[in-house]
Amino acid sequence: MIPMVNLKAQYAEIKTEVEQGLAQTIENCSFILGPNVQAFEKECADYLGVKHTIGVASGTDALHLALLAEGIGAGDEVITTAFTFIATAEAIKYVGAIPVFVDIDPQTLNICPDAIKKAITPKTKAVMPVHLFGQPADMAKISAICEQHHLKLIEDCCQSFGASINGLQTGAIGDVGAYSFFPSKNLGAFGDGGLVATNSDEIAQKIKRFRNHGSDVRYYHDVIGYNSRLDEMQAVILRAKLKRIEQYNQARRHAAHLYSELLADLPLTTPFEDHVGVHVYHQYTLLCDRRDEVLKALQDKQIGCAIYYPVPLHQQNVFKTECAGVSLPVTESVAARCMSLPICSHLSDETVKEIAAVIRGVFNA
Ligand SMILES: *Cc1c(COP(=O)(O)O)cnc(C)c1O
Repeated sequence: MIPMVNLKAQYAEIKTEVEQGLAQTIENCSFILGPNVQAFEKECADYLGVKHTIGVASGTDALHLALLAEGIGAGDEVITTAFTFIATAEAIKYVGAIPVFVDIDPQTLNICPDAIKKAITPKTKAVMPVHLFGQPADMAKISAICEQHHLKLIEDCCQSFGASINGLQTGAIGDVGAYSFFPSKNLGAFGDGGLVATNSDEIAQKIKRFRNHGSDVRYYHDVIGYNSRLDEMQAVILRAKLKRIEQYNQARRHAAHLYSELLADLPLTTPFEDHVGVHVYHQYTLLCDRRDEVLKALQDKQIGCAIYYPVPLHQQNVFKTECAGVSLPVTESVAARCMSLPICSHLSDETVKEIAAVIRGVFNA
């Protein structure tokens, strides 16, 4: 059996370090916002090249608190992509705002800057690009649009930890970046976790307050906040993995490039790298007209495979009524043809070759 993500192999390398750190945390009994969360936030800020990072309970919360801190609220429109995980749009709904879904670029599968421009109305308050599958969105164009129209730019970096454009990390370009440490993400915890990054003192202060019951000083509450703190135990694990994130992402890129080389001559589309930014391959996603046959061949050999995402957000039951009349031809066409192969920090060349051979078999190649 070949899993989508081999977390066991990754754990074997950091086992001693993690176990020692966890044991120490248990001895110290400092479980909430302890020294490891503080150290991890500092290490993340250094790595990402931002002034502040704030650990929170999940990527979804990171997006939610980022929108709240930026003052996005009832009736405001937030332009985003429908080709993403539901959490991107859920966060917009949590603050009472309206997600306005626009189409994607057919090559990068990221939000299309021209489509953003066309969707701007007097109610538009923010743009929320997703660096989908680990490839940075076109931030040069998107930043320029946001500046020109005075819109907040909130980056969904849940799939792009470590991705960069001209040396700038995703999440360090817009007003605020939101990251997820869900176990299968490029930097994954052993449970839920998330992070907000920003260069603004004011936004950082607000997010710290929101994550901890609206309080700066214990038992004094200034606003209605949430219980959304990054767990101390998760911070121990994340610190061990953050040290190795460059190696992890490099390994993902290596596996992806090998796949693309081995599948290059087949009648399917391998992931497009725009080379503007560094793609960190959270997913390795093909476009293929014979998707069902390829999926079946992989499943028969017990090889992990998945469809991210089969139903774009504007066509989900929860948004169907709200989005009646919304047509996103590129998104819809991609959703009908996309499929993702196993990729992670620990995937051998042999395994990539084995998977590629099964796919080649479908095409008798
Ligand atoms: C994983 C993910 C999220 C949500 O992160 P959680 O930590 O699971 O809450 C949000 N947006 C995108 C694009 C994601 O991939």
